Amino acid sequence: MDIFGENVFNDAIMRERLPKATYKSLRKTIEEGLPLNPDVAEVVANSMKDWAIEKGATHFTHWFQPLTGITAEKHDSFISPTQDGRVVMEFSGKELIQGEPDASSFPSGGIRATFEARGYTAWDCTSPAFLKEDGGVLTLCIPTAFCSYTGEALDKKTPLLRSMQTLSTQALRLLRLFGNTTSTRVTSTVGAEQEYFLIDKKFFDQRMDLMLTGRTLFGAMAPKGQELEDHYFGSLKTRIAAFMHDLNMDLWKLGVLAKTQHNEVAPGQFELAPIFGTTNIATDHNQLVMDTMKKVALRHDMVCLLHEKPFAGVNGSGKHNNWSMSTNDGLNLLDPGQSPHENLQFLTILCAIIKAVDDYAELLRLSAATPGNDHRLGANEAPPAIISIFLGDQLSDIFKQLQNGGVKRSLQGEKLASGVITLPSFRKDSTDRNRTSPFAFTGNKFEFRMVASSQSISGPNVVLNTIFAEVFSQFADRLEQAENFDQALQQLLKETATNHNRILFDGNGYSDEWVEEATKRGLPNITSTVDASLVLLRESTVKLYEKHQVLSKTELESRYEINLEQYSKQINIEALTMIDMAKHQIIPASINYSTRLANSINAIKSASSAVDVSVQENLLIDLCSTLVSFKTNLSVLETVTQEATTLTSDAYAQSVYYRDVVFKAMGALRIDGDKLETIIDADLWPLPTYAQMLFML
Ligand code: ADP
Ligand code: MG
Repeated sequence: MDIFGENVFNDAIMRERLPKATYKSLRKTIEEGLPLNPDVAEVVANSMKDWAIEKGATHFTHWFQPLTGITAEKHDSFISPTQDGRVVMEFSGKELIQGEPDASSFPSGGIRATFEARGYTAWDCTSPAFLKEDGGVLTLCIPTAFCSYTGEALDKKTPLLRSMQTLSTQALRLLRLFGNTTSTRVTSTVGAEQEYFLIDKKFFDQRMDLMLTGRTLFGAMAPKGQELEDHYFGSLKTRIAAFMHDLNMDLWKLGVLAKTQHNEVAPGQFELAPIFGTTNIATDHNQLVMDTMKKVALRHDMVCLLHEKPFAGVNGSGKHNNWSMSTNDGLNLLDPGQSPHENLQFLTILCAIIKAVDDYAELLRLSAATPGNDHRLGANEAPPAIISIFLGDQLSDIFKQLQNGGVKRSLQGEKLASGVITLPSFRKDSTDRNRTSPFAFTGNKFEFRMVASSQSISGPNVVLNTIFAEVFSQFADRLEQAENFDQALQQLLKETATNHNRILFDGNGYSDEWVEEATKRGLPNITSTVDASLVLLRESTVKLYEKHQVLSKTELESRYEINLEQYSKQINIEALTMIDMAKHQIIPASINYSTRLANSINAIKSASSAVDVSVQENLLIDLCSTLVSFKTNLSVLETVTQEATTLTSDAYAQSVYYRDVVFKAMGALRIDGDKLETIIDADLWPLPTYAQMLFML
């Protein structure tokens, strides 16, 4: 309790340190979304600085989230020179509100040319400032949005804040129709479960692929993987428990509500889930979680891998984005209550969400598209690339009733029958869970399970907020005009339930039958980031985002460019890393071992002609023929990687080439490389093996 939020300029600190009027004015901006009063900034800045200096900080930074998907910082000290050659510590309101990092070296997708360098960071007072500790040094971090000179969003925070605004406006319109006159703001809330791998640092240091690309580009499968299912929820190893303890401490100091931790499915894989919060803060906190995981792991001589697929053959990592929305007076709008069939407000919101997910399935799919996630979605471990919704027994039953017009009952959970008298008896939830659904209702929230482990959760939440706001606005338009509200509502619910039934699916989402069934239903199945990116340019997308003022056409186009550019760059780096490892590690090791075999054959043969050297000879034949194939595939990869870099005139064509040609050539090279690993003497093999990396913790 004492250390929680120790490094956060949180509400308690502000109330304690700020003059009453300043505090009140700031709270108004934070809670009610009112414009920030500039006089307030001066006072807050001073108080923030005093607090930070008392804690030992000498520098501050605007902390922002450019389109790289990670965070950025540029530190300035508080010092200001005096006449007599000394310094005083200063921090002005202007420095708090606004910063001007050079915008030209961040991805802008063509919005900014290199010579147009101005970009601004602007204080986001809705997310509290905090002190980040690195090597014992504390730096005051001020969460900020990042825009270009011309006002376009160059970051992940600006559209998120915009989407939260529109969600609030449109959700309130609906609430008013149901007689709610008290709530003045609706906020989306998010709890992001984060999966990650840990490996011993000494193995990481010997793997150029992990260092440069985050995933293993070569590596034969270990004799054991996750098939025994003995890692999931297994007892924590001492080293891991110590890591998690340190991680929790650091996160609690930062005000992150780290709550749940456990071993995940794959060996060496783990998960952390915080208690949910306002989307904006949850997004900032998820960045801090990822950053802190990496740093704390190093203190324990381990490396934290956040890549979606660090190891082939075992599960990769994702992020479960639990989403709900609540009013400023504390109502969770996705809470069905005891008898959901009587809760018309809930049913209306539920129908709107279902319609939105169906209408904008491709946008949602896009929001989880990254080159790393292409390894997971649709590959039998993560939910498929097809968007569908799992409602569970109770709500599915209600949804069916809605289709027939009018609802009369809610199924209730029964008592748990364990068959043991001494075990406590309690009522089960009204529905079981479904782990394979990409979008599942889980009691009082939806869980969007496609999100990539290394990705910022901003993008997915921008889409969720915006598409829900859109359908809320459609519903409100209709209902506000209705002469007979009850009748119009029944009609609307019936119509929605009937028209969007196809998006509901309670079965096994990992099965091939579902892919077939989904095609029949006309549900989109976009399997790669490259194809998903095209959705950004669609007229319907532009219309949606412009209507809700979340992203302009220019901003969408820039995001399209960046998506493709990052895809191509990522595959290019992977290809070049593979080429390097192949040439400088795998081929030399193969030659070494083949020479050793040849020497052995010669030596034995000259010692005695009676000895059978067929084992060595067969090994040598196998090794050398695999090496020939390896070298041939290497030459192909070199050629196509070179070719890809010349296709600069069309970002789309280039990324298609990377996906269809370069990525494929990498796969072929890997097959031979992994075979060589199984032939060559362990002492000569230059790379740590899967068994070492996954099991030696
Ligand atoms: P599971 O692994 O079964 O999905 P967890 O307990 O690990 O469940 O994670 C559930 C996540 O959902 C937690 O981060 C939790 O705080 C979050 N959550 C709970 N209620 C809400 C809500 N109303 N809005 C957003 N997230 C929520
Ligand atoms: Mg989950």
